[in-house]
Amino acid sequence: MRFEGKVAIVTGAARGMGAAHVRGLAAEGARVAVCDVLDDEGESLAGELAHARYCHLDVTDEAQWRSVVRTVEDTLGPVDVLVNNAGIIHFGGVEEQSPEHFRRILDVNLVGAFLGMHTVLPGMRARGRGAVVNISSAAGLMGFADGIGYVASKWGVRGMTKAAALDMAGTGVRINSVHPGVIRTPMGESASPELFAQQPVARIGEPDEVTRMVLFLASDDASYTTGGEFPVDGGQTIGHVGHDHAADKA
Ligand code: NAP
Repeated sequence: MRFEGKVAIVTGAARGMGAAHVRGLAAEGARVAVCDVLDDEGESLAGELAHARYCHLDVTDEAQWRSVVRTVEDTLGPVDVLVNNAGIIHFGGVEEQSPEHFRRILDVNLVGAFLGMHTVLPGMRARGRGAVVNISSAAGLMGFADGIGYVASKWGVRGMTKAAALDMAGTGVRINSVHPGVIRTPMGESASPELFAQQPVARIGEPDEVTRMVLFLASDDASYTTGGEFPVDGGQTIGHVGHDHAADKA
């Protein structure tokens, strides 16, 4: 029970990987704030758990962040763990993507994670403890065609994680980034199997496989780890194996 007595905020938590992180944290004793814009799904998930509450939170809205953190501190307690998980994707290359979509992706994926840290870190600094896990992507470690905004946002999350980890040096607060590959969620399921057919572990990943990494980094097990980047991607970012695993098996 690594999170007994601890309080965690997870964004984009109503479904997909965020919901898996909520369940994992709760199973290990955390009181969890399930934050999302999908109110019905979020309420229903929080209702399944003993010590959770749903909070409507659009991560792009600074005032909502302040209000949610206040509510969480009043009802669940001071925040020990923040998982910046909310994210969106709009496909499009550098010539096709509209500036509006590009800006929207940065606003949710990058500015949203910044606002989370900006709001929560002063309390963690004051208490001398805390862990932030920023969900980037394999797209934060390499380039992808047709993903100009998404790739930019996820490289931003990776870089911002390192800058913030340095800013929090000596405070007892650690900040790391996680880089999922193709994962079975409403967002990941649309990916073509070709994306993972050439990777060392040639299959789609499961949300729980990412949750195990998130929980490690959020816990004291990772006490000597900050500013790091942690792929959970079946080896996608180290390169192609050179032949098609799926074809071998056929
Ligand atoms: P998902 O199933 O689409 O869940 C993301 C959740 O975030 C949804 O509930 C979504 O609500 C919510 N959200 C969107 N905009 C928000 C906002 N402004 N404020 C608060 N919540 C918001 O996605 P997922 O696959 O679990 O992805 C979770 C994270 O992992 C994301 O950061 C994603 O970029 C990253 N990731 C995913 C994959 C993959 O293959 N699945 C791979 C690498 C990285 P709506 O439905 O209203 O948008």
